[in-house]
Amino acid sequence: MTASAPVTQDVLTIPRKLPEGGKLNLVGLTREGLRDALIAAGTPEKQARMRTGQIWQWIYQKGAREFGAMTNLSKDYRAQLDEHFTIAVPEIVSKQVSLDGTRKYLMRIAGGHEVEVVYIPEEDRGTLCISSQVGCTLTCTFCHTGTQKLVRNLTAGEVIGQVMVARDDLDEWPRPGEGSGERPRLISNIVLMGMGEPLYNFENVRDAMKIAMDGEGIAISRRRITLSTSGVVPAIAKTAEEIGCMLAVSFHATTDEVRDVLVPINKKWRIKKLLEALREYPKASNSERITFEYVMLKDVNDSDEDARRLVKLIAGIPAKINLIPFNEWPGAPYQRSDWDRIEKFADIIYKAGYASPIRTPRGEDIMAACGQLKSATERGRKSKAEIEAETGI
Ligand code: SAH
Ligand code: SF4
Repeated sequence: MTASAPVTQDVLTIPRKLPEGGKLNLVGLTREGLRDALIAAGTPEKQARMRTGQIWQWIYQKGAREFGAMTNLSKDYRAQLDEHFTIAVPEIVSKQVSLDGTRKYLMRIAGGHEVEVVYIPEEDRGTLCISSQVGCTLTCTFCHTGTQKLVRNLTAGEVIGQVMVARDDLDEWPRPGEGSGERPRLISNIVLMGMGEPLYNFENVRDAMKIAMDGEGIAISRRRITLSTSGVVPAIAKTAEEIGCMLAVSFHATTDEVRDVLVPINKKWRIKKLLEALREYPKASNSERITFEYVMLKDVNDSDEDARRLVKLIAGIPAKINLIPFNEWPGAPYQRSDWDRIEKFADIIYKAGYASPIRTPRGEDIMAACGQLKSATERGRKSKAEIEAETGI
């Protein structure tokens, strides 16, 4: 496959347009798409640009969910919009709040599917971790999401909808009479590190992130959005060109032999090819550095030799290495590296001149930490089934 070849996977993406007679959801349309939709529904072409701007601001700057609330539009026009369109977002099925303040949401999307979304408050920022697919087609052996079969790609509306719903729950939309920027931002950062491989749902993720970055809406800068990929090499340059956000890569091993097992997509695009694509990324997207994610698995990838090899491999790439203590899940075939081993590993990388933060597991008590995002749902379901069995309902 050449670098410019489209990356496609045989997965189901539900079409944006609802069946005949249904209403079209405006959430997730690009500005252009919104404009076209408004014209198709009878908005005169001359007014379309202005109307697009107004409706955009209502939806993404003010958090409006009904056309009736759009008071700078005439009553007739609002009724006309209502006839053709909806403003639909995912629905919160459940919310858990960890002792450390991390919030985990289970959100329901069309078709009854569910995705998990995690909000992580920190002193200087608040990060929302969102999902791009229901399940994942890839089968990384340390990741619980990978054991869940892919059900489908999320639409752009469902990807940005996760951010909108989290803003609802955090009460983050400007209140009436309040200017934007008056209160500190609760969601200041977005990471595409939830369920799924974002680069196997490229167009929808791109459109959703364009909406997130748009200055007249949610307005999160591209430097505060990080997309994590397992290494879909042909889509990396496209990410730089068409999204321009920060990139994280699930690296996890320093030899093809080990990476083939941990991150099996490595059999398709080897470490060498991946590094070539990564080398180009900061230049192409104006990003300062790439985050290398490295899960610490006891006796698998955590030796001093691995640390030294890692430093050699990434030489010349502006990088930071994020060491992730393995989060265990029921039946996982690995163990977390011992703490002193992780520190020793971090030290070697640090001494070679790279930042090597150890990611503190957040929300472990609610199974919201990296890679645990399937088990909690399953456990929830299981216990519900158990309750049903017990009560006979
Ligand atoms: N599919 C994308 C993004 C989602 S995974 C990717 O693979 O990059 C987000 C991060 O969590 C990845 O770095 C992934 O490797 C890591 N991860 C998955 N399972 C984990 C586990 N059990 N413990 C710690 N990190 C895990
Ligand atoms: Fe999919 Fe990422 Fe998990 Fe691998 S680590 S199975 S790519 S979600």
